[in-house]
Amino acid sequence: MELDNVEIPSSMSEYDVTSFFQTNVLFTSKEDLIEWTCKVGRSLCYVITILSSDKVTARPRPRVLLGCDRAGQFRENLKQVRQNKRKSSSKKCGCPFQVRGQKDTLVDEWRVEVVCGMHNHESGHLEAHSYAGRLDKNEEKMVENMYATGVKPRKILSSIKKNSPGNTTTIRTIYNHRAMVYKQELGGRSPIQFLFQCVTNAGYVCYTRVKAHGKQLESLFFANPMSIRLCRMFPSVFQLDCTYKTNRYRMPLLSIVGVTSTSQSFFGAFVFMSDETEYSYRWALDCFKSILDSCSLPLVLITDRELALMNAIKIIFPHSKNLLCQVHIHRNILAHCRKLFTKGVDCDIFLGKWQMLMNATTEVQLNIEFNQLLIGYAEKYPKVFSYVVST
Ligand SMILES: [Zn+2]
Repeated sequence: MELDNVEIPSSMSEYDVTSFFQTNVLFTSKEDLIEWTCKVGRSLCYVITILSSDKVTARPRPRVLLGCDRAGQFRENLKQVRQNKRKSSSKKCGCPFQVRGQKDTLVDEWRVEVVCGMHNHESGHLEAHSYAGRLDKNEEKMVENMYATGVKPRKILSSIKKNSPGNTTTIRTIYNHRAMVYKQELGGRSPIQFLFQCVTNAGYVCYTRVKAHGKQLESLFFANPMSIRLCRMFPSVFQLDCTYKTNRYRMPLLSIVGVTSTSQSFFGAFVFMSDETEYSYRWALDCFKSILDSCSLPLVLITDRELALMNAIKIIFPHSKNLLCQVHIHRNILAHCRKLFTKGVDCDIFLGKWQMLMNATTEVQLNIEFNQLLIGYAEKYPKVFSYVVST
């Protein structure tokens, strides 16, 4: 850039930042020098960018030229102007500020030299400035470490801002970096292939089922070695339930949860399934059966009213009792019966009685509670009563 042709304001003193960039510090690498320069620029609310940089082998004393992000002049895209597509603008105003970094080959270190320490514009607000908000190497490492431990993006952002006051990174930058790390981790593999590799490397017991013609995955079963040990130690009761919206392929995730003798729950196994047919459930339960001791199979399996799963249980675990989950029953009763009541009070009384019935510990008590329900609701609310009895 020709510095002589640049217009510089008369009151230069407020835009002169030369003294901030004058230093005798030697930098061990070009990257360190760039980082320091950008940091000083950021502290003065100016954005410093690389204007040109020599390759290390290009000349005996490699150089890097850094300048203001408002250096140079904006050139209109002629094609877009001709087509009248969109009017674009730029903040570029030919700012003359320039700092040069040069490698001293004798000591193998880099030193900074101010070429022009003046800007021809005011310093700006850096919030949401894409370049100023970039993460430095330490911050990138911090995001990666925190992301790996499951910290939420908002918490990551506030930690970064706490560590370096004046930081202008936005939540979008955190999301973008997280997406980039995720993409790098996948290394061209699909997420499900990546998961398969992770669980195999971690010593999980893993089974897959693929479509007969082709390589499309239909089901993926995986169980942690510790979970398998727990399943064998506490095989009495398991709860089976599907979770949705856990992945972009819309594959339901069947989780099998066990209970210890001290009423602590533990994850037994997980199965990603392409559909919720009886055949898929049978395959999943067969895999689960294979990790258990054949002589101590589950006594009770708790499910919601998923008929395909209930049928599969009858076939794979014919000697186990299949009970319905109370939470699911209560949720369904609420969803179906609330609208059938004309008075809200009646609904609340009914739910109270229903809870008494659910809490019955003996068959006699259960019959008493059921008769109470029969007397109160068979005539007054026949629809409610028939739903409860038939479903
Ligand atoms: Zn400038």
